[in-house]
Amino acid sequence: MADEITLTLRTTSPTASCPSCGTQSSRIQSRYTRKLHDLPSGGRPVHLIMHVRRFFCKKRTCAQKMFTERLPELCRPHAQRTKRLQKALCQLGLTAGGQAGTDLGSELGLSGSRDTILRLVRQHQQPDPPKSRIVGVDDWAWKRRLRYGTLICDLERGLPIELCKWKEKVAAFGRNAGRFLPHIARKETLPITNSEEILAVIPN
Ligand SMILES: [Zn+2]
Repeated sequence: MADEITLTLRTTSPTASCPSCGTQSSRIQSRYTRKLHDLPSGGRPVHLIMHVRRFFCKKRTCAQKMFTERLPELCRPHAQRTKRLQKALCQLGLTAGGQAGTDLGSELGLSGSRDTILRLVRQHQQPDPPKSRIVGVDDWAWKRRLRYGTLICDLERGLPIELCKWKEKVAAFGRNAGRFLPHIARKETLPITNSEEILAVIPN
């Protein structure tokens, strides 16, 4: 494509550190080229041709005899896009969705298919929610005396934390299940992952 911009880059550091043991090495084993898509410039797609080096690890006891130099600020290992392009595509996916994000990205010169955008959205790490201080526990019967479920919610923020399936054990406690749920939860390792302490239990 005539409008594309291609940049050829090479690293200038004389050494690289082994990703397994951290030892610095200057013994180059081989070189190869790697192509990356980057953010567009002036509406024109940008491609990077990276000259990357493989090194021998100098540490005798290291299991990794050879390694490829890492470029952690630019891209992840084996990625076809730079981190900043991945971030832009992910934001498109989070804001507009898969297909609409792809269409909008195409207008903006961002290279990424619908599947790529959806994969980046799935890999997107949501920040950990704040710890819950006051937790409400409520249970309901999917099928009376047979199948019960439990809803655990953050009472301060009014948000659900976990939706759990319970069967015979909760049923055995009957209408007093709410009183015993924290004990059952500890015993059964109920995943109340962001709750430091149950301060309030609201039974039926
Ligand atoms: Zn090593």
